[in-house]
Amino acid sequence: MTLRIHNTLTRRLEAFAPIEPGHVRMYVCGITVYDLCHLGHARMMLAFDVVYRWLLASGLRVTYVRNITDIEDKIIRRALERGITIRALTDEMVAAMHRDLGALGVAAPTHEPRATKYVPQMRSLIGQLQAKGLAYQAEGGDVNFAVRRFEGYGKLSGKSLDELRAGERVAVADDKHDPLDFVLWKSAKPGEPPEAQWDSPWGAGRPGWHIECSAMACALLGEPFDIHGGGMDLQFPHHENEIAQSEGASGGPFVRTWMHNGFLNVDDTKMSKSLGNFFTIADVLKKFDGETIRFFMLRTHYRSPFNFSEVALEETRSSLKRLYTALQAAGEVDAVPVIDWQEPRAAVFKSAMDDDFNTPGAVAVLFDLAAGANRGQRADAALLKALGAVLGLLQQAPQSYLQGGVALDETEILQRIAQRAAAKSARDFAAADSIRDALLAQGIVLKDSAQGTTWVKA
Ligand SMILES: [Zn+2]
Repeated sequence: MTLRIHNTLTRRLEAFAPIEPGHVRMYVCGITVYDLCHLGHARMMLAFDVVYRWLLASGLRVTYVRNITDIEDKIIRRALERGITIRALTDEMVAAMHRDLGALGVAAPTHEPRATKYVPQMRSLIGQLQAKGLAYQAEGGDVNFAVRRFEGYGKLSGKSLDELRAGERVAVADDKHDPLDFVLWKSAKPGEPPEAQWDSPWGAGRPGWHIECSAMACALLGEPFDIHGGGMDLQFPHHENEIAQSEGASGGPFVRTWMHNGFLNVDDTKMSKSLGNFFTIADVLKKFDGETIRFFMLRTHYRSPFNFSEVALEETRSSLKRLYTALQAAGEVDAVPVIDWQEPRAAVFKSAMDDDFNTPGAVAVLFDLAAGANRGQRADAALLKALGAVLGLLQQAPQSYLQGGVALDETEILQRIAQRAAAKSARDFAAADSIRDALLAQGIVLKDSAQGTTWVKA
């Protein structure tokens, strides 16, 4: 079977073949770096990391561009609040993002362009749109895209202009000719730092968010290119606007296949700061290792809604330990073997991945192989490790993974000691022992005495 991908543009599964034989060009909307990455970002990054890895495993060359939005209203506001420069803020957040993504095993893209390095390309694209009558400078100085002038607006979200207009909750802004018109160039406002301003034929200002992606994608990949991805929330208006800008300027197609990953919920509720169920990647990494988080997210298909819960994450940690235990049982696999895709289990794995990146199906194969490895079948263990590598899993030495786990901080250790004392006084010795064993597994040894319990690192 050849790879089939669900294309948001056609709402169908389509056989995938790169425009340039053997070479896939892919763009994914990256992070606006004003704060730490959250779980929604983790899900998006992992979804496209799997796509990237599977294209490579399929023998294709991939040019993968994932941008960094390092100029935007929220960034300017946050830098002012913190009394630091925009550059200091964005450098700090980019470094934090790289740390988080490294912990999750997300591979670096081929190019990771920063928007501020592509302002000349953005200005030139806006100039082309203006020359074609698709953009106008409003009275307040902003340059806007005139959506009514672009035929085909709404084709990605599958809505007509009138439906979209009815659904627009944005207050009919200021000097736009149509409420759906969006900004291409924002004129500089009083109080904004010089760092947030560039010269342009329309006066000092900065690019709008949508034009950033159109310009960077075109500069690094050319048009049309194969795959454009992002979170489902970007489908409208961000991606619809990218199409309008790029196709409006070039007159030809922008992207062949649009991919969108599904939403992330926490305990079946939308994750939000106001509901108190908002987690950054760094928050979760305090309690769970990155590979467990990665494995957890891969067990849901990228287009399905993903439900994060700590209980399910605990279960995933046990499942991952089962896989590592199986690898350990079969003895050390020194080198990852070349995969024979004709091998029946490898073939099942491949057909799952070729079916729109069906990672739950692929993970099921890992458990089949673990059963064989547990019986000491070294070939199964070797294939388990090789297929794990395709998903970015199971590459640690089993022994060190099983003994490792996450370093606990002192507060957490003291909490567990208190829980164990409570279990003991309730005469629930099994629970007390399991707390002690769990701590031991993480290198924490408890010592009981008449004065109470103390701990030392093993
Ligand atoms: Zn984008």
